[in-house]
Amino acid sequence: MYSEQAEKLTITKLFLGNANAYVVRAGNEAAIIDGGLGSWPERFSAALANSSGDSAEVRYIMVTHAHYDHVGSVRALKKAYPRALVVAHKNEAANLRAGLSPVPKGTMWFSRPISWLGCRIFRHCIHFNGFAVDVEVEDSLKSRLAGIEIEFFHTPGHTSGSLCLRVGEEAVFVGDSIFHVLPGCFYPPFADLPELLTASWQRIVATGARMIYPGHGRPISRKRFIAESGCS
Ligand SMILES: [Zn+2]
Repeated sequence: MYSEQAEKLTITKLFLGNANAYVVRAGNEAAIIDGGLGSWPERFSAALANSSGDSAEVRYIMVTHAHYDHVGSVRALKKAYPRALVVAHKNEAANLRAGLSPVPKGTMWFSRPISWLGCRIFRHCIHFNGFAVDVEVEDSLKSRLAGIEIEFFHTPGHTSGSLCLRVGEEAVFVGDSIFHVLPGCFYPPFADLPELLTASWQRIVATGARMIYPGHGRPISRKRFIAESGCS
């Protein structure tokens, strides 16, 4: 776990199971991005507290997509922070409610057999604790976090309802739309609509946000992502 300061913004990355979740704190308000693999509400409450132990008010719990390794804590978080709104893309809402994580299609030599096997073992869906979505985003939705403009926006490719969140000019949280586990390799090993990924990457780059925070692997600057991915 580490924190990054940029003016009034504090970004905390939590590694939960095999995926990243994030807590963004601006003044006394906060947004949570994803819930990791497994239920870890106590890790979030620690990240939400400031140096004097006061917790920020959680305004949004944003779900980047309905895959089991990104949603594990969401039900417990919704209970812990009942005033927070769960935000997801409308295409993912039914699966999130039902607790269904469809096995995605493999895009690489090693992920295709994993996907094939996963479909047979799990009958196309892995189950998790479902929850209701309060705000279903269609294309884009703007709001504010302690005076900082934030935008939820649709980036189909990894799944049909993948959603990103831009926070001011500082950060964009991209879920599995961009992987950054291996240096210089950003293509997700699984994608239901791979033909839409390039346009979604362009949309992420077009936000101008300085840092990109992926669901797996390390954050990367927009500048480096453009140079190494060839996306502009
Ligand atoms: Zn995923």
